[in-house]
Amino acid sequence: MKIITKEILEDTKGAGDLVDITEKVTALVEKSGTRDGNVTVFVVGSTAALTTFEYEPGLIKDVRELCEKLIPAGKRYHHDDTWGDANGFSHLRSALFGPSIVVPFRSGKLALGTWQQLVLAEFDNRPRHRQVVVQIMGE
Ligand code: ZN
Repeated sequence: MKIITKEILEDTKGAGDLVDITEKVTALVEKSGTRDGNVTVFVVGSTAALTTFEYEPGLIKDVRELCEKLIPAGKRYHHDDTWGDANGFSHLRSALFGPSIVVPFRSGKLALGTWQQLVLAEFDNRPRHRQVVVQIMGE
């Protein structure tokens, strides 16, 4: 079994930026020389997340609205008193969605549905330079 660790770098536009990284992850798995295994995709940092949904304009709006309904950006959070960085909502959204996702692959193909994309969710209140670690374990 091989373990190959790569990374994807993305410049995001701040809270609500949802970036489809499916093609980049797929390309790394294809180039890895492995056929069957798992790929772990992990975003470094506590104000972003990784998730899957159908990446189309309506659902992108729906996900943004869901975040705003569950964890409004305009509310004051205890974290904001700690550092004064006003991004308590960003950390909470990140904690809710989670930083990583594991996708199995077989015969060189990710086991994703046709309408299931891998999405990097930026929640921070400013643009960020994001590092996404992609670790492929397989043979
Ligand atoms: Zn913070």
